[in-house]
Amino acid sequence: MKIKHIPILSAGLLLLASNAVAEDTIALRAVNKAGEVIDAALVAYGGAEAITNLNVVARKSNFTTWATTQSLQPGAPWDQGQTSNFAAINFSEEQFRGATKGSGGGFDIDAGQLINGESSYTFDFRAGTMTAVAEPDFNTTSGPFIRVTAPLLVKQLQNRRHTSHWLGETEFDGRAHDVVTLVMEVGPALSLYFDQETHLLSRSERVLAPFGQIDYRFKDYVTIDGIPFAKTFELYADDQQNMLIDRYETVVNPDFAQYLELPKDLEAIAAAPPASTEVELQELAEGVFLVGGAGTFVMFVEMDDYVVSIGGTAGVPERIAEFRKVVEDKPIRYGVLTHHHNDHVLGVAPYQAEGATVLTVKAHEEVVRAAATDGEALKLKFVDGSEWLDGGSHKIQIIDIGPTPHSEHLLVAWLPEEGILFEADHFPNPANGRMAPAQPVTRRLAEVIDARGMDVKTIVGAHSARIASREDLAKALSLLPVNAAGSSW
Ligand SMILES: [Zn+2]
Repeated sequence: MKIKHIPILSAGLLLLASNAVAEDTIALRAVNKAGEVIDAALVAYGGAEAITNLNVVARKSNFTTWATTQSLQPGAPWDQGQTSNFAAINFSEEQFRGATKGSGGGFDIDAGQLINGESSYTFDFRAGTMTAVAEPDFNTTSGPFIRVTAPLLVKQLQNRRHTSHWLGETEFDGRAHDVVTLVMEVGPALSLYFDQETHLLSRSERVLAPFGQIDYRFKDYVTIDGIPFAKTFELYADDQQNMLIDRYETVVNPDFAQYLELPKDLEAIAAAPPASTEVELQELAEGVFLVGGAGTFVMFVEMDDYVVSIGGTAGVPERIAEFRKVVEDKPIRYGVLTHHHNDHVLGVAPYQAEGATVLTVKAHEEVVRAAATDGEALKLKFVDGSEWLDGGSHKIQIIDIGPTPHSEHLLVAWLPEEGILFEADHFPNPANGRMAPAQPVTRRLAEVIDARGMDVKTIVGAHSARIASREDLAKALSLLPVNAAGSSW
């Protein structure tokens, strides 16, 4: 088969090549014009040689983030979070160092990473631990830093100009711009907007299905060692501001050796086994199943005549299909949503398709209806405080534990007879079972468990395959944040 195809393919390519030379095709114009835009940008960014020699960049920044569709309440204005960040990249050696410290959504973070071949690690300064990275990936790890650093995008264009097409010219911020494409090693193509007068990058866009369009803005250029860097960076997701970065320090070509040092006070712990991407079923008790994979899980409870499905994260149809291998015929009467965040209402449409009534709180009605296939026809039942579902073989109490530091309202499912609690986003449960100091959200969950005198034996979550014990929760609560040194330079 292969041998037969080769001559045909070669002939086709030859034909294409000769046509391209003969005619001024759209593709040829797009490539040639992109080349002109890239050459002008290289001059504006200090010259081709300066960009070629731009090998190490280290930046300190303050990030303001807006928790779009991930705030305490369902609508705008979105909650703001603050983090301080450090990033340093070394292109020639494919090394990257990053660190982030701050809070948001009821979680405190003080973490970092080093990509350095065999000596690659993630650091949890809050927990005081470090974990070897089994398969370090320089391109994936450094991509987010490159995408928000204009001269590094120009460097990418320089190295990958064969991927670039001129898309056209357009006005942006009252100024004429040329738009060219860039395909990086990883991720969807970027559209880069270069000012026709200054030849500096003003804007970049990329489309991230199914989430929508991400729009980056580069502002307040300052020249460092002859290369203009944007001091301010803004990110919009579907026209809503999602991030503001203020760079207060940028260093060009420092010695990278200082960033390769490992923090001294961290305990090395074993890496978690890679998460399974297969949908798997675990039986927690008779008729109670945790089904999921790839970081999203649903709990199914088999009643006498019907089924209750709890959790609304990605992949509900596949989880239902897996559950159907053990319980074939009973209808799913209720689908319980934990909260209104965009990654927890994906189950609404599949529950509606099953003919189920969706359980939520009144305050989340609008978001939940919007997530349905037919919002008006969606059957809803609102939980006010708490609600019992008694289906004979099992009793489930759906409890609103809000307000929590993560959501004004948050539903958990509690099976008192089995001692099983299902929660979302309030108890991080690492696959290796190594508990970290309890987050503010976990302390809130524990308060509710205490106040209600719940005899919890098992905790399962919307984002973990691991079944946690009450000892795991006690362990997390007993640990205090270490906040070890080493996260900043
Ligand atoms: Zn959430």
